[in-house]
Amino acid sequence: MEFSERDNVKYLLELRDREELRKIFDRAYQVRIQYLGPKVYLRGLIELSNICIKNCYYCGIRRSNTLPSRYLMREDEIIESALWAFQNKYGSIVLQSGERRDSLFIESIGTIIEKIKEQTDGKLGITLSLGEQKYKVYEKWFAAGAHRYLLRIETSNKSLYEKLHPANHSFEKRKNCLTTLKKIGYQVGTGVMIGLPMQTVDDLVDDLFFFKEMDVDMIGMGPFLTSNNTPLNQQFPVHFADKEELLKLSLKMIAAARLLLKDVNIASTTALQVLKYDGREQALKCGANIIMPNITLRKYRPYYRLYDNKPCIEENSELCKMCLANRIISIGEKIGYDERGDSLHFQKTKYRNTIKIFYNS
Ligand code: SAM
Ligand code: SF4
Repeated sequence: MEFSERDNVKYLLELRDREELRKIFDRAYQVRIQYLGPKVYLRGLIELSNICIKNCYYCGIRRSNTLPSRYLMREDEIIESALWAFQNKYGSIVLQSGERRDSLFIESIGTIIEKIKEQTDGKLGITLSLGEQKYKVYEKWFAAGAHRYLLRIETSNKSLYEKLHPANHSFEKRKNCLTTLKKIGYQVGTGVMIGLPMQTVDDLVDDLFFFKEMDVDMIGMGPFLTSNNTPLNQQFPVHFADKEELLKLSLKMIAAARLLLKDVNIASTTALQVLKYDGREQALKCGANIIMPNITLRKYRPYYRLYDNKPCIEENSELCKMCLANRIISIGEKIGYDERGDSLHFQKTKYRNTIKIFYNS
């Protein structure tokens, strides 16, 4: 099946025949191996703060949610966690948090990136997932040494986006951030939540073509999971109760993304594990090639609760490392220890642009 057409993508997302589905998942897996090789790359995830100025209706750490105690990891704790990842041969880390735009936060992130760069000889890959920022801020953090940025569009349907966010959250602004990040030179990742209330299959098809149109280098998408005490949960209390179905839909989206985009990095996200204990491993067999083990200090983990039943909050980084390594190896995958596993799509685009400049000059 040629995967460049909308009808084919929709066909896959609606497919129920188990045997045919397995064949398509296997095909997506082969495409991953053909383009990116047999290794799975690690990104140690540091959830550095749950303080957020935004109020997304679905998120457990939204500003107006009074339940979680708010925390900000100290600079030395963040750097120590990054060094732990480096010493344990994780090729990259992700610094993620609620959104903040004050100068104290911006300066502190810049310093942390510089120190991590310095203390790992520039070898540790640094991905940021710190929300919408001004051009100058993205530029500052890039200059400090971060080289990848994850910013999910959440849904490519503007009117659905507006139903999931307060009026002062802007779809256009978020989309423009993706363009800005690309312009600056980041490897850019985006993604959506799958199975959102009011979302249709056509929306999901559009999401996949949005990734293509935006020419992104990485994709991090996962199931929408209910979060107590959020406006969305109050509005849709029994939404998507069938976990098996939601997992299947998420796996179909991953397989479709791999078949459509081929050489991008695709994360197997933690939220998949909430649906089934081996949800992340299943995603690796459907085309994902990135895993993000949680390396947040244990004492902070219970407070970074985006959704209910978040896994691994009782474990520490050492336990997560062993558990994950066993899981990955048990399904016959190899781990790219000490490798950054940069997006092949990004490298190809950069090469093409260099050639263009060379011939035009
Ligand atoms: N604040 C930054 C941002 O929004 O880009 C980065 C951190 S935010 C917690 C990371 C992602 O968590 C969001 O992009 C969103 O897709 C996801 N998320 C939040 N609430 C969720 C929920 N209830 N179910 C699944 N994913 C959720
Ligand atoms: Fe804040 Fe991100 Fe949660 Fe939205 S999704 S409330 S920006 S942490």
